[in-house]
Amino acid sequence: MQPPARSVRAGFVGVIGNTPLIRLARLSAETGCEILAKAEFLNPGGSVKDRAALYIIEDAERRALLSAGGTVVEGTAGNTGIGLAHICAARGYRCTIVIPDSQSPEKMELLRVLGADVRPVPPKPYADPDNYQKIAARLASESPANTIWANQFDNVVNRQAHYETTGPEIWRDCAGRIDAFVCATGTGGTLGGVARFLKERGVQAGTQIRIVLADPQGSALYSWIKTGELKSEGSSISEGIGTSRVTANLEGTPIDDAVQIDDQAAVSMVYRLLREEGLCVGSSSGINVAAAVRVARELGPGHTVVTLLCDRGALYFQRLFNPDWLRAKGLSPE
Ligand code: PMP
Repeated sequence: MQPPARSVRAGFVGVIGNTPLIRLARLSAETGCEILAKAEFLNPGGSVKDRAALYIIEDAERRALLSAGGTVVEGTAGNTGIGLAHICAARGYRCTIVIPDSQSPEKMELLRVLGADVRPVPPKPYADPDNYQKIAARLASESPANTIWANQFDNVVNRQAHYETTGPEIWRDCAGRIDAFVCATGTGGTLGGVARFLKERGVQAGTQIRIVLADPQGSALYSWIKTGELKSEGSSISEGIGTSRVTANLEGTPIDDAVQIDDQAAVSMVYRLLREEGLCVGSSSGINVAAAVRVARELGPGHTVVTLLCDRGALYFQRLFNPDWLRAKGLSPE
């Protein structure tokens, strides 16, 4: 039999990755730089987290920790859960998702539609034994064999996914012409994997690629990069990014600088992307692009700055795209 044509892919997982870079024309013109955003929202589960979900499940299968009829348990702000739930459905696994009840209702609805057992829990700090990640770990450890805890924060297979796929795709699509990579972090997987890959390639090619962390208010990482101290102030409407600790995935990442983006700047950028580019994305994408523009201004004209569009705006219709909700938070789409 002939091998399938290249455009025929093997199921849901065959469509993960190889997302395009989108040139943001207005922002590029304004800064005199190439502002390129990797369209991670085009992954089949709608976010950058499909990559980590796939690597985590396939690693567990390879190590014979997960087989037919097994269960995947995870604590997630939603997108990793969505990626896992898609793959679990395709492979006949059960999926249990522990999610802070502060996350968007659309994510929970999608998880239920995908057949996951969704357990919303009150948000608690990481140190609390009832933090959603710790509840997920407990649930998995109390379950019978053939159950895994995906552990996206400290399972470095997550970072490996980005070292082996996202980073090389960016390098290939920029043909090596890249001056800075800018992105926010939740688990540290994306930043940790992409930063390592690009730094290594930059050194081999004799170029310096600047790695910049974008951080929302309420996260401790901006202060950690700037002063070495994990300290947070304020809060953010963003979901899936910002953290109070250095995860195993983030540990050792070569980061040159950090920028902090407040919610108004993120919301304004989300609406600019909608009006100017016809792109409907979530708030972490707004933070990423606002930070990329700031880095482009610091570098000056003639540079190429790459960032990510992490997920779809459709997950946030009741919030980010709801004028009443925004107003109640003191935020404006302008
Ligand atoms: N943006 C969104 C919307 C996310 O859900 C996540 C993952 N939690 C991220 C960004 C950050 O990705 P990572 O976990 O790889 O740091």
